Amino acid sequence: MTHDFPLPGHDWPMLQPGWVWLCGAGPGDPGLLTLHALNALRQADVVIYDALVQEAILDWAPQAEHIYAGKRGGKPSAKQRDISLHLVDLARAGKRVLRLKGGDPFVFGRGGEEAQTLVQHNIPIRIIPGISAGIGGLAYAGIPVTHRDVNQSVTFVTGHDQSGNTPGSLDWTSISKGSQVIVIYMGMKHIAQIAAHLIAAGRSLSEPAAVVTTATTKDQQVLETTLGTIVEDIAAANLEPPAIICIGRSVLMRQVLDWQGMAAGDAPRNLDPLGRGRSAESA
Ligand code: SAH
Repeated sequence: MTHDFPLPGHDWPMLQPGWVWLCGAGPGDPGLLTLHALNALRQADVVIYDALVQEAILDWAPQAEHIYAGKRGGKPSAKQRDISLHLVDLARAGKRVLRLKGGDPFVFGRGGEEAQTLVQHNIPIRIIPGISAGIGGLAYAGIPVTHRDVNQSVTFVTGHDQSGNTPGSLDWTSISKGSQVIVIYMGMKHIAQIAAHLIAAGRSLSEPAAVVTTATTKDQQVLETTLGTIVEDIAAANLEPPAIICIGRSVLMRQVLDWQGMAAGDAPRNLDPLGRGRSAESA
């Protein structure tokens, strides 16, 4: 691989020894890295990466030491503290440290906690946002996270809290009434309870839903289903995390926007999936 650094065309920031850059790697496809992420990969002495970061992305940092920091059981909070303190140690040892996290570091990724620990230890940081799976992963499935005919708001929720249970603090009734489209991270384990909460709060059994696993990678799988059948359909399709679950009528847009399915030149299944009887131009 050519190793051109610095990148052309911009006054790229330098990753200085003793600094930690906390960086989003996007949902999987290396092409969804930002140029700031690439700039960081090119300079790092050490890259500490999570389970959700595709290994191919590390090829952009051949000069760096690669350290896997995925969680392998044990107490998540203790492990998280270990990771944060490891970052502190590496920075104090004068390394140029790149902390690479899946998606966006500040979206359900504990990036805020890691950054806080670093700041508390007087380690200088930079934050590099990334494309979050709940937006980019759905886009790769042909599902726009907002669409004018469907929703004026979208709610991103986590299906887990710190203890691994469904978040007791979430007010599913308000979420259900307040948001036409609900995007759930880490929702696979508790999808039965989540679906039951939403149905109890008045969402329709026939409401469209989609599950996108390992989104944006070559293993991406998309299940189109409904709120009433999502649990059995996930089981029947043997779907495994990581998955983004989207509840709402924007899922129907996949019938016209499944661009990966159409790449072979197939016609879309339905040019007017919302039944508006008009095309986008006449709206
Ligand atoms: N910071 C990440 C989210 C971390 S939480 C982001 O912004 O995307 C981990 C959860 O993210 C997973 O359980 C899953 O719900 C979702 N996720 C991350 N990458 C994904 C992918 N490639 N495909 C589907 N879901 C993904």
